[in-house]
Amino acid sequence: MLERGSTIGILGGGQLGRMMAVAGARLGYRCIGYAPAGDNVAAPVCDDFFINAWDDKPALAAFAAKCDVVTWEFENVPVAVAAAMPPDGIFPLPRALETAQDRLIEKRFVENLGGRPAPYAKVDSRADLDMAIERIGMPGILKTRRDGYDGKGQWRLSSQRDVEALTFSDRPAIYEGLVSFSAEFSVILVRGRDGEVRFWESPRNLHEHGILATSALPAGEVIKEQSDPARELARQVADALSYVGVLTLEFFACDDGPVFNEMAPRVHNSGHWTIEGAVTSQFENHIRAVAGLPLGNTRTTAKKVVMNNVLGKDIKGVTEHLGVSDAHWHDYGKKQTRAGRKMGHVTRLIR
Ligand code: AMP
Repeated sequence: MLERGSTIGILGGGQLGRMMAVAGARLGYRCIGYAPAGDNVAAPVCDDFFINAWDDKPALAAFAAKCDVVTWEFENVPVAVAAAMPPDGIFPLPRALETAQDRLIEKRFVENLGGRPAPYAKVDSRADLDMAIERIGMPGILKTRRDGYDGKGQWRLSSQRDVEALTFSDRPAIYEGLVSFSAEFSVILVRGRDGEVRFWESPRNLHEHGILATSALPAGEVIKEQSDPARELARQVADALSYVGVLTLEFFACDDGPVFNEMAPRVHNSGHWTIEGAVTSQFENHIRAVAGLPLGNTRTTAKKVVMNNVLGKDIKGVTEHLGVSDAHWHDYGKKQTRAGRKMGHVTRLIR
């Protein structure tokens, strides 16, 4: 168990790190961050922040030397960076990153555990894509295997015309059949150092243009019915990775049961509602898990919870909504406003 006053290192400097560091401070830990130059919004709430490239070995060594334990808030932290941290002092283990950074490896891993992804094919060339479309059909989505997020690195293909218009970059990709779903949901769990697993209630997630817009509870009957098998799969994924911390799996609720979409080896946007809507938030439980503290209760505390992301220019005037009782605004403190950029979120509750 990490002594109070110990130092937790966070790799990555985004809003997830910011909310993680706030939770860490509440539990009496010092949090220090590490990320390359950029709008590192975690920095102002960390005790110290290293702004260095991912391949700066002396800086990584200096950072590691200051940490009692290290975690990450960003799943595209290079595996070599996580592997450069003391092996008994990084949670989750770097192989969770290795698995989740590549859509192909991730899907195969989950399939081997009995999960059911959308039909997919590996695509390394235009010829592969043609074959994939022939086998799986259209509509479908071409996704880069690595570095995609918030709908980036994805192309929807509905007709041969879309295929012709595609400037194929030869970046390793996968082609996925479009799933016809009635709803999307996520399973968010925390696994402790001793292997104990706790789940939060699964929210219904609405995406717009590939970006999460809303997470809401109660999620409805369909998701309630499908969350048990989805949880079982998520537990197996966590066990297989000897996972420590918060892990998220996203699913499509379909007529014949849950279809696995993707996993995130970290706290997740669809779990932000837990800050006000659950006994213990995903951020607090992530810190508890990596620190080896007992896990907190994950029960939902409100009848209804709705979390809305605030993107780009929509941040203007957002505080006007706070007159509504039990509405909570989280400003990520980002300096640059860009279309589609996550600037903050609002959580509204009915108790
Ligand atoms: P992803 O980055 O893969 O999670 O994709 C972002 C969003 O795009 C998902 O949450 C879905 O709303 C949509 N999407 C991605 N893949 C598929 C698919 N195979 N079928 C239907 N919708 C999808």
